[in-house]
Amino acid sequence: MRRRPARAAGRQNAHVVPTAFATLTELRPDQLRGAPMRWPRPSAWAQPLAWEPTTVAEAAAQLGLHSVGDLLAHLPRDTGEGRTITELQPDEVATVVVEVRSITSRPVRRRGMKPLVEATVADETGVMVATFFNQPWLQRAYPPGTRLMLAGKHQARNRFRVNAHARTDAPTGAADAGVAQYPATKGISSTQILAMAQLHRSAVADAVDPLPAAIRVAEALPDAVAAFAAAHFGDREAGRRRLAFDELLLDQVVQLRLREEHQGGDRAPALDGPHPLTDRWRAELLPFALTGDQRQAIDELDADLALARPMQRLLMGEVGSGKTVVALHAMLRAVEHGHQAALMAPTEVLAEQHFATLSALLPGLADTGLLAASAAARTPDGAFGTPMGTSGALLTGSVTQARRRELLARLASGELDLLVGTHALIEEPVRFASLGVVVVDEQHRFGVRQRAALDAKAPVGCVPHVLHMTATPIPRTLRLASFGALDVTALKELPHGRRPIVTHVADSERERERAYERIREELRAGRQAFVVCPLVADSEAVQARAATAEFERLRTGELADFEVALLHGQMHARDKAEAMERFVARKADVLVATTVIEVGIDVPNATVMLVEDAERYGLSQLHQLRGRIGRGGHASVCLLFGPKGSRRLKALAEHTDGFVLAELDLELRGEGELTGTRQSGLARFRFARLPDDAALLARAHARAGTLLAEDPGLELPEHALLRDALARLEAEARAA
Ligand code: ADP
Ligand code: MG
Repeated sequence: MRRRPARAAGRQNAHVVPTAFATLTELRPDQLRGAPMRWPRPSAWAQPLAWEPTTVAEAAAQLGLHSVGDLLAHLPRDTGEGRTITELQPDEVATVVVEVRSITSRPVRRRGMKPLVEATVADETGVMVATFFNQPWLQRAYPPGTRLMLAGKHQARNRFRVNAHARTDAPTGAADAGVAQYPATKGISSTQILAMAQLHRSAVADAVDPLPAAIRVAEALPDAVAAFAAAHFGDREAGRRRLAFDELLLDQVVQLRLREEHQGGDRAPALDGPHPLTDRWRAELLPFALTGDQRQAIDELDADLALARPMQRLLMGEVGSGKTVVALHAMLRAVEHGHQAALMAPTEVLAEQHFATLSALLPGLADTGLLAASAAARTPDGAFGTPMGTSGALLTGSVTQARRRELLARLASGELDLLVGTHALIEEPVRFASLGVVVVDEQHRFGVRQRAALDAKAPVGCVPHVLHMTATPIPRTLRLASFGALDVTALKELPHGRRPIVTHVADSERERERAYERIREELRAGRQAFVVCPLVADSEAVQARAATAEFERLRTGELADFEVALLHGQMHARDKAEAMERFVARKADVLVATTVIEVGIDVPNATVMLVEDAERYGLSQLHQLRGRIGRGGHASVCLLFGPKGSRRLKALAEHTDGFVLAELDLELRGEGELTGTRQSGLARFRFARLPDDAALLARAHARAGTLLAEDPGLELPEHALLRDALARLEAEARAA
């Protein structure tokens, strides 16, 4: 039940019958049609907010709440209980809107406490005493007659202990359907934000609606004014979804337009000639046969590269799925057409690893970048580089100035075919003679600026083909948001020689005994084992202690007959390297470790992994961990200690396909916890929540496609506001 003073009801003109000015004569529909309309005033949203005092203003600034528009775009995330005074139950936590009748303060006997402020407050239903702790100044700030929104706990004898408070212009007793709970921070409460939102409620009518009416109708969505009003003061979820739709639509339009802009015109070198180099490489130099997935990926790339339209493809495949081989093929396609290729990794370590992988795949490559070796690296027929005459180099920050100059000169002259480095390659004054193919590893959001910098490396009037690689399988539902504009190729099949991993979930003492027995069996057969320690809190130090304790326990207990090594994040780099070396060299049989082993350990002889408290890890993380075994010629087993009923652990026991697991992970957890969310840029959405809004995203994607097909430049008058919103977004993207 909602009671409003007549004054407030007057503002709710939805219920009011329209009459002619200053009369009681009702207007006929035809008269109404000609009536003046209210147009939104965007300037109302630019008004600064008057937060008081300065401490609150500072906290508001932290949340980015400077203007009315900022505030209205700051949506509540939840709804709390709104109550009238008589409705309050003992011990209930709720929000009320009341008027101060009288207010006093009295000292508190406990030391260190400031005087207690007590106010007699009332709404239409009753009176109670509100108590404010430690804020004596409130006695002056809230004189009788002040209307307040109070959040707190109702206590016995009609007292209300106040946790958060704000002046409000909302009608007293306005419990409404519920009280919006806003994301707040230290120094500003949800109650203060809500009071401010209510103060500026009328500005909702000034919302500019970028969505053309036709789309709104087709998608059965409310208009922007209704959506903002609902998001704050009504059906919050319905309001939020409409705003999320706009956000996703605009995002998809931006992605599609960028793609069009980049691919429009035939500007990339068409790599459509014969395959002398790549054929020879595959037949004579590649130390293994390609998997079916790799062959198919290569065919897809070849088709892309053969066009003068720049390739924009994403190659997705787990660590070890053999992406580098596919990438190298694309790079060599550039070389056999007289162009160059670059591979960019997010870190120097990864760049080094890539270069090592490339060198293994293309024997002789590593020598060709060395100054001293460059003469020696010439093949008998005088060609420079590998047996095929291909040259490559690694360019990182640790390269000396002299060598760097030399490399850059050879790159600019076209003598150097392949360059591997970090993303800094494109920022720096690195000149290529003719950059034809670029491989970008693990940079999910490749910004407009990077793209422009990259394009500038190609010959004038040309842009390179780009292949993105990622080891994080992104579920299909999220792919549109992250890579709406990329073609996707997935490597699912693991290279030949990989053995399937059998995974068991164990939770009883007997199973634990059995698990150690199984480990000992493998060790006695000459294999090696990982023991992964529990994920303890967020503290590296605690984690390290736990790992150390487990290490001591195992090497004097269950695994006393074997060499056990310890590896955790708090060890000195030297000790870490030594532990790793011992394990790699088979001097240690067992590696007791924290999740530091997640990245980059390749010990094909390791066939068992035991994970303690496995349910504490995320599904994707466990999958990554498990990928450390099953890398050699032997069957492997993964033992997960944790509750048998855990859906996550069950999923791992049932599936080994990282793509299937990524979809399941998405189902079982929210976006926030999803591995790769940050990188994939999903966190950039303000209103949209993925994966919850996955269906909405698919609609927005489809709508963006039809919209651009109809009106590519968004030049129709009904698209003017959409175009404006887009221009702002694109400007932001360009600046990013
Ligand atoms: P990714 O980059 O996807 O993590 P890599 O391309 O680095 O994978 O390959 C991982 C390892 O597997 C490398 O040592 C590589 O030489 C090897 N490899 C790749 N493809 C095959 C294959 N078809 N058969 C056997 N080994 C392969
Ligand atoms: Mg690799």
